[in-house]
Amino acid sequence: MTERIIAQPFIYGLPRISFCWAAPIICEPKALSIKIPRLILAELINHALQDDPNESCGLLLGTDDEVDEMHRMSNVNKKPISRYTMQPGELIEAQEKAKKSDREFVAIYHSHTFTQGYPSKTDIKNAVAVASISTRHVIVSLVEKTRPVVRAFKINGHSEVTELVIQTDGEPYRASD
Ligand SMILES: [Zn+2]
Repeated sequence: MTERIIAQPFIYGLPRISFCWAAPIICEPKALSIKIPRLILAELINHALQDDPNESCGLLLGTDDEVDEMHRMSNVNKKPISRYTMQPGELIEAQEKAKKSDREFVAIYHSHTFTQGYPSKTDIKNAVAVASISTRHVIVSLVEKTRPVVRAFKINGHSEVTELVIQTDGEPYRASD
């Protein structure tokens, strides 16, 4: 399992990837992953299909990097076809639920109904703003309706996007399957 650096912002005017080419061992990142049970992966896809053409959104609860529950949220954005905003009251409810059960928000999820499962510029900007909730983001893409694709990313405070390996029970999940 390897971590793939998908996007590297410019740091001090130089693309960071150049540094990596010069020193590949130093830059070799630790493999990052997220564990999502198959049933929840299926539920994520169901939610996306049900809300299509609007974006679905919600939270994945669990501990550390392991998801054990999916919490659907209402998308209250005025342009739900291309944006999502979680309903604030539901978010508070979910926070209380997580706190009571001693769990955390492992990831935030949403769907892309017309684009690939990669964070948009808006997603990256919003991710930085909600980093206190979670830095992991799961995206379900319905760009090919008959082949929904689930991908996961970590977005840090510097807007750096790193794809996470999705581990699951049984056979490993591969977006290309
Ligand atoms: Zn998005």
